Amino acid sequence: MTSSTHLAVIGGGPGGYAAAFLAADLGMQVTLIDEAPDPGGVCLYRGCMPSKALLHVAKVLTEAREARAWGVDFAEPALDLDRLRGWKEGVVGRLTGGLGQLSTQRGVTYLRGRAELLGPTSVRVTPPPVGADGAGGFAGAGAGGAG
Ligand SMILES: Cc1cc2nc3c(=O)[nH]c(=O)nc-3n(C[C@H](O)[C@H](O)[C@H](O)COP(=O)(O)OP(=O)(O)OC[C@H]3O[C@@H](n4cnc5c(N)ncnc54)[C@H](O)[C@@H]3O)c2cc1C
Repeated sequence: MTSSTHLAVIGGGPGGYAAAFLAADLGMQVTLIDEAPDPGGVCLYRGCMPSKALLHVAKVLTEAREARAWGVDFAEPALDLDRLRGWKEGVVGRLTGGLGQLSTQRGVTYLRGRAELLGPTSVRVTPPPVGADGAGGFAGAGAGGAG
């Protein structure tokens, strides 16, 4: 499938989605391309947000241990890593899903796949394998810049 757009933004991280949202707000037809299910990039999927969620848990554990010195005793915590990961994934999902909704509200076309520049005004987007992170149904797409 071939389609055209005023602006193709490669990468859905904080740099990419901010640029795409601004361009859409200024009236451009924008296509945002990333392999992830929603915008977010390293910051939301693997960096800032997941690390802060896990750091918060570490802080709670540390404070519970230190509270002994203040005369408050907690039982030794039991860590359920699967539930902890599930909660962290939930935080990431809510934030990235919210960005997906903001893209839709602005009329930004979100293409899921790996972009490759074919020339100054054309990009090929190779979708992720079917089934990767729920990527099924993404049959294929291409974005040709309007120049
Ligand atoms: C553990 C960790 C903790 C961090 N904590 C903080 C923090 O607390 N505060 C803070 O300000 N910063 C933090 N950062 C840094 C922050 O993540 C980066 O500054 C930010 O993600 C950069 O945004 P970006 O849009 O430039 O790039 P990225 O977030 O890296 O986004 C680039 C996106 O482009 C995609 N992409 C690349 N090439 C292609 C292609 N050819 N086709 C399609 N998609 C492509 C990538 O898959 C990625 O999704 C942290 C980073 C890490 C690793």
